[in-house]
Amino acid sequence: MIISIRSQASSEERAQLLALLGRITHHQRPITPTTIDGREVIALDGGQLDTQAGLLLRQQGAVERVVPVKTPYKLVSRSFKPEGSSILAGTLSGGNAVTIGRTANGASSPVIIAGPCAVENREQLLLTAKSVKAAGAQVLRGGAFKPRTSPYQFQGLALEGLRLLAEAREMTGLPVITEVMEPGLVETVTEYADILQIGSRNMQNFPLLLAAGRNSQRRPVMLKRGLAATIEEWLLAAEYIVAAGNPNVMLCERGIRSFDPQTRNVLDLSCVPLLHELTHLPVIVDPSHATGRRELVHSMSRASIAAGADGLILEVHSDPNNALCDGRQSIIEEQLRAIVRDTRLMAQMIDGKMDFSYVA
Ligand code: PEP
Ligand code: MN
Repeated sequence: MIISIRSQASSEERAQLLALLGRITHHQRPITPTTIDGREVIALDGGQLDTQAGLLLRQQGAVERVVPVKTPYKLVSRSFKPEGSSILAGTLSGGNAVTIGRTANGASSPVIIAGPCAVENREQLLLTAKSVKAAGAQVLRGGAFKPRTSPYQFQGLALEGLRLLAEAREMTGLPVITEVMEPGLVETVTEYADILQIGSRNMQNFPLLLAAGRNSQRRPVMLKRGLAATIEEWLLAAEYIVAAGNPNVMLCERGIRSFDPQTRNVLDLSCVPLLHELTHLPVIVDPSHATGRRELVHSMSRASIAAGADGLILEVHSDPNNALCDGRQSIIEEQLRAIVRDTRLMAQMIDGKMDFSYVA
């Protein structure tokens, strides 16, 4: 259930409500309200409550209303917010902020996030940043802290990488997204990044999810699907961030593990329309990590937009064959330009704005 708190509730009424919730939920977790769209709400599993507790709750002076939500995830559920969420990203970027998710009139204008897998050095990042901007991307990606399978692979430039991303933002005006791997680094990454990325390997790193909820100044967070996570596990991971205080979460499908090594992962595109039914959060697709092959990235980008994705995240490198990380799946500027063009055309077609008058 989701409890909305009356905006005029007195501090005594609020304290009384929180004390009651602590008792009836047997202090399973610290209960703090989250502000979503200007409303203070508290979510809990109503199944834990007996009838008497439920009645008592509804009688509290601080309670405006109690909305039952049957799914295990509550605040991210579409039933809580049928109209869908859009997220403003890029408040650090001086006027180049972008809206991710459905616009107020329901039109789709998918956001293109592009850049190298890893920030390798100043020259590489600034060159790629210029080139993704020229190709029409709206957000720059680049890993400073890299989760690598082998401890002997390039691990990223860490803090120096964050500084270079800030410089690239300054130069191009593009907001930047970068991965945070440790709860203790959320505040530092928040100083530099317009969007925090939580990678696949950390989708269920619960202390990290809580830190991204509490310590990120509500900076947008892109939560990538775990390597073998179910949709429900993924939505519950997003719920951790929202319940901890940050409602600005978007999901990113990046392929799931399967048996065939021909592609790096299997892109689960059916999750896109399904997620739009289950949750109000925007959905981004990453065809680069999903396929692991640059020759598949363009067609899977088109397919993602056709499936209703709110955006794409793409790996781009000026010299993919010499990239320190994920060169095999990295595209070049020219390919990105073609994807941006197709994305715009397809979005217009999906919104019914395409001119078909030439068709006899
Ligand atoms: C990435 O996008 O840099 C990355 C490491 O991807 P994933 O977490 O999806 O493997
Ligand atoms: Mn990568």
